[in-house]
Amino acid sequence: MISGFKDTLALRQSIIDGCLAMNASGINQGTSGNISVRTDAGMLITPSGVDYAQLHPDMLVLMPLDDTSIAPNQMKPSSEWRFHRDILKAKPAVSAVVHAHPVYCTALAMNHMEIPSCHYMVAAFGGDTVPLADYALFGTEALSVHVLAALQNRSACLMANHGAVVTGDSLERALWRMTELETLAKGYVTALTVGQPKLLGKVDMSAVQQAFSDYGLKTDA
Ligand SMILES: [Zn+2]
Repeated sequence: MISGFKDTLALRQSIIDGCLAMNASGINQGTSGNISVRTDAGMLITPSGVDYAQLHPDMLVLMPLDDTSIAPNQMKPSSEWRFHRDILKAKPAVSAVVHAHPVYCTALAMNHMEIPSCHYMVAAFGGDTVPLADYALFGTEALSVHVLAALQNRSACLMANHGAVVTGDSLERALWRMTELETLAKGYVTALTVGQPKLLGKVDMSAVQQAFSDYGLKTDA
């Protein structure tokens, strides 16, 4: 198991920088996205409903992974803390979880569509598809169960009528995946407007997986 990062000011600042970068790039709008990072003591997660521009390192919420107790004098954690915690608990190789409502990912998710093997980069998320997690109300245990099921052997999924979630063995890798995922979703949605995308077959997709592992693109799924 990868042990968590030390809860330092630099780590907290990197989470805030990640939030600001998602808004600057248009991956996220407003305060709908959230980030968590594994630490020695559990996870650090963005607080609920705070404008990213107002985020300060001491506003990030430290939560244990094995219960729901939160040390006093902390802000309220993101309403999606449950699936962040459950992913970090279930997947020891994952050190960071990023959730957002990127427009093209969300457009597919509104149609209950997954991303098929329409581009070789689909393999960067662990398989031949980027799957779709079933719908459940935000913040619920049911949503967490659906997200974990979709993330089996994957480092990304779309969330029906909601958005997307990605994982990484570092925050940097998770943020990279979210950008790649939205780019892929944008390509797929655009391809659907001009024709019927041709899919790569199993042989081609496993060759991509092999090439990625040769390049050291580790999967943390
Ligand atoms: Zn959300």
